[in-house]
Amino acid sequence: MNAMPSTDTVLAHEGRKHDQLGAPVNPPVYRQSTLLFENLDALKTASGTPNAYGRGGSPTTRALETALARLEGAHRAMLTPSGLSAITTSLLAVLNPGDHLLMTDSVYDPTRTFCNETLMRLGIETTYYDPAIGAGIASLMRPNTRAVFVESPGSLTFEVQDIPAISRVAHRHGAIVLMDNTWATPLYFRSFEHGVDVSIHAATKYISGHSDLLMGVILTTDSLYPKINRFYRQLGMTVSGDDAYLALRGLRTLSVRLERHQRNAHALTDWFARQPEVAEILYPARPGSPGHALWQRDFTGASGLFGVVLHPQAEEAMRALLDGMTCFGMGYSWGGFESLILRSSPARYRTAKQWPWAGPLLRIHAGLEHPDDMIADLEAGFLRLRAATMVQMES
Ligand SMILES: *Cc1c(COP(=O)(O)O)cnc(C)c1O
Repeated sequence: MNAMPSTDTVLAHEGRKHDQLGAPVNPPVYRQSTLLFENLDALKTASGTPNAYGRGGSPTTRALETALARLEGAHRAMLTPSGLSAITTSLLAVLNPGDHLLMTDSVYDPTRTFCNETLMRLGIETTYYDPAIGAGIASLMRPNTRAVFVESPGSLTFEVQDIPAISRVAHRHGAIVLMDNTWATPLYFRSFEHGVDVSIHAATKYISGHSDLLMGVILTTDSLYPKINRFYRQLGMTVSGDDAYLALRGLRTLSVRLERHQRNAHALTDWFARQPEVAEILYPARPGSPGHALWQRDFTGASGLFGVVLHPQAEEAMRALLDGMTCFGMGYSWGGFESLILRSSPARYRTAKQWPWAGPLLRIHAGLEHPDDMIADLEAGFLRLRAATMVQMES
């Protein structure tokens, strides 16, 4: 292989042992707690290291970590039992009582709850900022601001953030930048090249890609790795070999899956754009959508998750739309092979920047089904919505 293999080649090869002829392509699944040592010297050598005991990881988990770190250009990766635990572990590792955290107002809601309850209890203050703030974040920096957290695009509201501008300001003030990079995956946003210090993914979503496991990953630079890893190990964070194997197996097809998710999302947003009930489409990859210029500048692709803001609708009309879907499932997740639809109202989460839309938000995950079938399902749904609206108007 040449010195700089392309992403697609890394996806196929990284984390495999190339030096063993006759060995299987994939790593074995290690199920382990106890590790045995040949003699006292070997036991003493392992003592205190991740190689002493099962919790420190196995060849299966390390294969996945190596592949993920390589893909995003990180120094090292650490696997956690969920995306949320990757976020909370990272924040707790870098913040101390008395510190100040700047948090995007578009953040995944459970992250917000963690800041408002646990970080608050530990004496760490969180200030929420307008996701579109860019270099203006300088006005919110305090002497004790240790970290700025970004999520771009937000997984419910899809604002794209100017991460290079935010990172420059943060670093000038001695703060680090943590990012929830789940939407773009390591393939479509090269976080470390844009100034991010800690990149976090819910591997539950596209990385594993099959809706059959929960996992998170923390990716860091070499300078932050020792500090975060020390804390990560103290917390006892670990994942099973079975889950690591499944996630690695999912990862191999990430690039081809994302291409299709992206293509299907474009087909669906083209359809939504023609419906009179639609007020705005929140898909940064779509020309005319909010954040398109920044997305074009910084991202190399788009995944299949987007938002559709409707004009205000009666509750009965929304129920008629959503309760009869057959191709789309309703569920609080995304990133698997299946299409999902979710109704949400982002306004109630926001504190820094008011949500500008009055109507309901549909969050759509374009899965790998044929777009004609998805569109037929949506067409039938919008007919039900229109019929229910007529009944409302007549009564
Ligand atoms: C789902 C999700 C998480 C949390 O991941 P879990 O594995 O469900 O804990 C974090 N951030 C974003 C953007 C997500 O969509």
